Amino acid sequence: MAVYVCSVCGWAYDEAEGAPDNGINPGTPWEQVAADFRCPICKVPKSKFEKQEEPEEEAKEEAAESAPGSRTFVCSICGWTYSEAEGAPDNGIAPGTAWEDVPADFRCPICKVPKSKFEEA
Ligand SMILES: [Zn+2]
Ligand SMILES: [Zn+2]
Repeated sequence: MAVYVCSVCGWAYDEAEGAPDNGINPGTPWEQVAADFRCPICKVPKSKFEKQEEPEEEAKEEAAESAPGSRTFVCSICGWTYSEAEGAPDNGIAPGTAWEDVPADFRCPICKVPKSKFEEA
């Protein structure tokens, strides 16, 4: 069901609702509205009506903020940072590795403290 809007006054004809006050039953397609139908408000003819475009669906979903894979953990001793997105290829950890999946014996490449000394940034 489409909606047609009067380009002059903005009155809207909704095919689902019709225009019962004007003798048009609910569910009447715009094409079947009488050719001499005029806007109930400003009396312009059907030709002045325009189909209202369907609002576009929001295609993109906002990525959740601290989603796994996008967090950063900082060594509380030296400040070295582990980015889940970047991993730590020099230390055998592939980009995209979640902190939970980093081996428990992982140590800070700089100061050698264990994972437990890292904090989420
Ligand atoms: Zn109008
Ligand atoms: Zn460190």
